[in-house]
Amino acid sequence: MRYSQMFIPTVREIPADAETVSHQLMIRAGLIRKLASGIYTYLPLGLRVIKKVEQIIREEMNRAGAQELVMPVVQPAELWKESGRWEHYGKELLRFRDRKDSEYCLAPTHEEVITDLVRNEVKSYRQLPLNLYQIQTKFRDEMRPRFGVIRCREFVMKDAYSFDIDEEGAELSYRKMFDAYQRIFTRCGLRFRAVEADTGSIGGSFSHEFLVMAETGEDEMVYCDRCGYAANMEKAETIRPEEAKESKELKPLEEVFTPNVKTIEEVCQFLQVSPQDVVKTLVYMADGRPVAVLIRGDEEVNEIKVKNLLGCDTLEMATDEEIIKYAGSHRGFVGPIGLKCRMMADFSLWGRTNLVVGANREDYHIKNANYPRDFDLKEFHDLRFIHEGDPCPRCGAQINFARGIEVGHVFKLGTKYSRAMRAVYLDRNGQEKYMIMGCYGIGVGRVVAACIEQHHDDGGIIWPISLAPFHVIITPVNVRERALNEAAEKIYQSCIDLGLEALLDDRDERAGVKFNDADLIGIPFRITVGPKKVAEGKVEIKHRLDGRVDVVPIEAAASYCQKAVFAV
Ligand code: ATP
Ligand code: MG
Repeated sequence: MRYSQMFIPTVREIPADAETVSHQLMIRAGLIRKLASGIYTYLPLGLRVIKKVEQIIREEMNRAGAQELVMPVVQPAELWKESGRWEHYGKELLRFRDRKDSEYCLAPTHEEVITDLVRNEVKSYRQLPLNLYQIQTKFRDEMRPRFGVIRCREFVMKDAYSFDIDEEGAELSYRKMFDAYQRIFTRCGLRFRAVEADTGSIGGSFSHEFLVMAETGEDEMVYCDRCGYAANMEKAETIRPEEAKESKELKPLEEVFTPNVKTIEEVCQFLQVSPQDVVKTLVYMADGRPVAVLIRGDEEVNEIKVKNLLGCDTLEMATDEEIIKYAGSHRGFVGPIGLKCRMMADFSLWGRTNLVVGANREDYHIKNANYPRDFDLKEFHDLRFIHEGDPCPRCGAQINFARGIEVGHVFKLGTKYSRAMRAVYLDRNGQEKYMIMGCYGIGVGRVVAACIEQHHDDGGIIWPISLAPFHVIITPVNVRERALNEAAEKIYQSCIDLGLEALLDDRDERAGVKFNDADLIGIPFRITVGPKKVAEGKVEIKHRLDGRVDVVPIEAAASYCQKAVFAV
């Protein structure tokens, strides 16, 4: 391609509304433009990168035995009502009506449609397993679109869905996708980690998020260098501590007047104790039933863990009226002694003695509370968030914390959708069974942005060869000099002949402008065609990655780049 004929609107200034480097560079390098909040156009250069990612995904999905199809973006409400998600999905699901007043939505994901397709077409175990995927537009009316295409509203996702006859098959399908994802993200030049993620009601460890390591990432993860354990923040387990070694002398209960002292900090200050000696008692309503969660004053309850443990659909903080009903006092003075509901404690309270608790009486707390002496506490679970200083839950080594960008997600769905939508097959014995499903997503645009987050410098993007929109840019420093033009054209032709994707910067611009643009758009190799070197029959080849410059004969320039590009 000739630069002069390509639409590459680069921008010098940093766009004011772009917070992250990738967002800034995608605009500055002429990859994307915003149409509306969270809705973007991919310009020619950006689309070339998108196509590279899609190609890598296709190759690896096909290699793993998945087959490509394309499903509609506009979907009838009936299917979503069948799965129950029409009510539950919330405002991210954009709903609308057609001229006949029928209800539709824009697909945020495709479980309903794929399940409908497969239940209609697949009848026998002989037709399974099946893994179908598409690379298709999704729409999610995100509350806070931000970071450019990292969290946008309209985006392209690769989504695959597997159907198996039994658990064993489903696990194998999951494994294959997991392995394919490792290859895809490696080929995209990303440093990433697969971390265990929450599976909600499905249970088990059959959900992994693929997080690209990046300070600007919205996701937090923990990982252990010793045993390889890795999980996201919501999922990361904490373990029961050793029995506390402190003195076991149980002091007598003491009720103290604590007027208007409600928060943990206020309690600690007022009673001159540390947060570790205070019990936080939180009353929740789980599917309408009260349950109290007790946790050490310096810890935070992880409500996802509570929800999973209870296996409930909804978990909400109790209202003021409900708290009065079960505790007999206002928020801020709730405690376990005399509390009229199920109680469970986080491991952080294991073995702890002489605790400060709410008195279930307005303006009072109780000192030296001890279980089981003063209150009945039998249930201890892992209900909190992990944090710095916690050991690895698997091997006890020191655990590391990092931030990341979620680019992919693999998830075992079990029979959640096949039950709701009756996707059944006949087994060997002619018996009806539910298909066991899995779903596997990759955000294509997010992969591109995540790649830029990891690969850039002050000058712009540094594409890994596998995603670069062009392999080589040929830059004659002055197009008015015939000798330079001729040499550049010759090299350009040779590059094309050798199968390289080459961009000839034939613009009548100052060399500095061309160099800056080449750096900004991040082409891996720049062949500089300048008067001094050309007079010697040579050109310079600059590596975008490390700035290295090699001088090679004009005739050898293309093959030099070919070797470098196809060696990887
Ligand atoms: P997140 O927690 O970031 O909202 P999610 O859990 O909703 O992601 P999935 O439903 O698992 O995401 O979607 C699969 C993939 O689609 C994600 O791993 C991500 O790469 C991509 N994706 C999801 N939401 C967006 C979005 N708003 N913009 C761009 N890509 C997205
Ligand atoms: Mg989301």
